[in-house]
Amino acid sequence: MSKLRPAWVEIDLAALRHNVRVLQQRVGPPVEVMAVVKSDGFGCGAAITAREVMAAGAHGLAVGNPEDARAIRAAGINAPVLLYASTPPDAAAEVAALGITATIHDMESLAAFAALEQTLDVQFKIEAGLGRLGVSPDDWQAAFGAVKQAENLNLTGLYTHLNAPDDPASIERQMAQFDAAYEIAQEVGFRSLRRMVASSNVVLGYPNLNFDAVNAGRLLFHLLDGHWAGMIETRPVIAAIKSAIIQVKSFPAGGHVGFLGGEALTRATRLAVLPIGFGDGFKHRPPLGEVLLHGQRAPVVGRRGIEHTVIDVSGVADAGVGDEVVLLGFQGNGEITGLELGAWLDLPLMEILPRLARTLPRVYLGQS
Ligand SMILES: *Cc1c(COP(=O)(O)O)cnc(C)c1O
Repeated sequence: MSKLRPAWVEIDLAALRHNVRVLQQRVGPPVEVMAVVKSDGFGCGAAITAREVMAAGAHGLAVGNPEDARAIRAAGINAPVLLYASTPPDAAAEVAALGITATIHDMESLAAFAALEQTLDVQFKIEAGLGRLGVSPDDWQAAFGAVKQAENLNLTGLYTHLNAPDDPASIERQMAQFDAAYEIAQEVGFRSLRRMVASSNVVLGYPNLNFDAVNAGRLLFHLLDGHWAGMIETRPVIAAIKSAIIQVKSFPAGGHVGFLGGEALTRATRLAVLPIGFGDGFKHRPPLGEVLLHGQRAPVVGRRGIEHTVIDVSGVADAGVGDEVVLLGFQGNGEITGLELGAWLDLPLMEILPRLARTLPRVYLGQS
């Protein structure tokens, strides 16, 4: 953490390892945990989170951005890495050079990988209803036939990303599609393909769909919202966001503070400034929520600046320059949870916390 600008995020790597173990216990030993550390490890760093989840017993890793795969390999981590569908066909050679399992998601990506000299493990992403990336039902027969013919490609498994986990009927429809693809693969002669369909919500809601491996991301990073969050005892990984006061100023009742609007102050008010703003991933416009100072809550007021947050410290005795302020996490007997922060900012946890972690200076705790 820099003294020059006190504003940082604390990433709890012991919590990440704990969450991997909790997931492994939930799915049982024969089921492998493919830990999803996509989007730069949900903003926490792809390579460092990859190392920690492997230390906690994960079987392998999944990422969606080839740069994350590159960072993991550059850090000397040799674990299996599945690269989700993410690249255009003309990137096939570069993808193959990463030393990962590539995804075939349509006939074009299949042709591109099959045209390479290099041998390569691949998985098929099956279109089962999400309507985004995946080999479509009309192409299954041809695709399995073609990958069988391609001497450089070793098809190791099928996966899909199930949509609408709150709707069991929809999950059933998608699984019927996935099963149909698996059946065709078997008819074509693929007898030992691995199957993987369980992202975080599916692990929690549909334990019968764990198959050979589960690929959970948000669960490992404690980024589930709503009733899903209570379904497993994970711990926050993006554990704290902190700053410190750089100025305190008092304004008399009846005075005017420009950024609070045109109204005169109805009471004497003390305002403190923190060097952290919407440029760090927070929001500009209200509602902006509260922070902890001396273990007490203080509201964020006005509009947040790109580099500044102003809090009303009128209710906190002895607030002074240099005092630590907690925007997420514990202080004294107080706590601001991620769910609370997300609710204030009207953003899902998986959106707001990785954004803050990615942008702010990161402090790692509990490294193995
Ligand atoms: C992100 C992703 C997952 C993991 O989803 P979570 O909800 O974070 O567990 C699984 N599969 C695919 C294809 C993904 O892109």
